[in-house]
Amino acid sequence: MVTTWPRDFPGLGTGANYLAKIIGEMSDGRLTVKVYGGNELVPPFEVFDAVQRGTAEMGHGGAYYWKGKMPVSPFFAGVPFGLTGSEMNGWFYHGGGLELYQEVYAPFGVIPFPVGNSGTQMGGWFNKEINNVEDLKGLKMRIPGFGGEVLKRLGGTPVNIPGAELFTALQNGTIDATEWVGPMNDLAFGLFRAAKYYYYPGWHEPGTTLEGTVNTEAMAALPPDLQSIVRVACKAANMDMFADFEARNGEALHTLINEHKVELRPFPDEVLAALKRASFEVFEEQAASDDMSAKVWTSLKAFIEQVKPSTRIGSQHFVNRR
Ligand code: CA
Repeated sequence: MVTTWPRDFPGLGTGANYLAKIIGEMSDGRLTVKVYGGNELVPPFEVFDAVQRGTAEMGHGGAYYWKGKMPVSPFFAGVPFGLTGSEMNGWFYHGGGLELYQEVYAPFGVIPFPVGNSGTQMGGWFNKEINNVEDLKGLKMRIPGFGGEVLKRLGGTPVNIPGAELFTALQNGTIDATEWVGPMNDLAFGLFRAAKYYYYPGWHEPGTTLEGTVNTEAMAALPPDLQSIVRVACKAANMDMFADFEARNGEALHTLINEHKVELRPFPDEVLAALKRASFEVFEEQAASDDMSAKVWTSLKAFIEQVKPSTRIGSQHFVNRR
């Protein structure tokens, strides 16, 4: 299994390790998986190609990295103002999402599975205050994917630089802001030392799903019980990483606030409202330009509308009063 992450990277890399470990255990050693960090066998962003070619039988990364091959792919990682992690799982497993995901990847000889979720991310680290929509104009921010396109629409300048260079870019003013993941991964990078404000919420990544991939021929070569073990192990690893982020984000946020005296700021309502409007314009335009994007966005949009009321009166109402 080749991965997009540095070996043992907290949450993402350790989640890939967990998947490999349980496949070995569940199959009593009949199927063993060896994990490679980014650049160990192939570069981080060639994971999909390696699985497609069969250089590796499995991969772990994120669907949005393959946008160049499949414009629709970022929808499977999640969209700005879209589904939370729990809701993403609802869409994948019981809302038709997984079938669409596998249909899109099938022509490439690759079978994708949800394998991990970051939970709701943070808005990011800023050295500029965001008090109104005007403040987004000219903002140089590291924010990849749909989020970056949305920022650009409101006058910002999205840049995509590798995680390892974020700290320096923020510190020397190459960028005004960066999003990364959430408290657990952000604390590990020390981003609080290079930025004044920690904004929330992560409107651009409300419940990002990570991705496991299996080469279609390699899967077909396995007997049915091992195929089932791979599928169920992916599901278990999906849940396990989500739980890891849930548990460790709480701990890390406590450290950021109490030990490092980080200044937390909510994005103003008018800024979030403008970002939301721009987000839906971006999705509708993409749906209009590509048939598969139209099909997937129709499914995802319907699911968002369907779960909104039950989440609002269920977990959301409860959490606001806890
Ligand atoms: Ca992120």
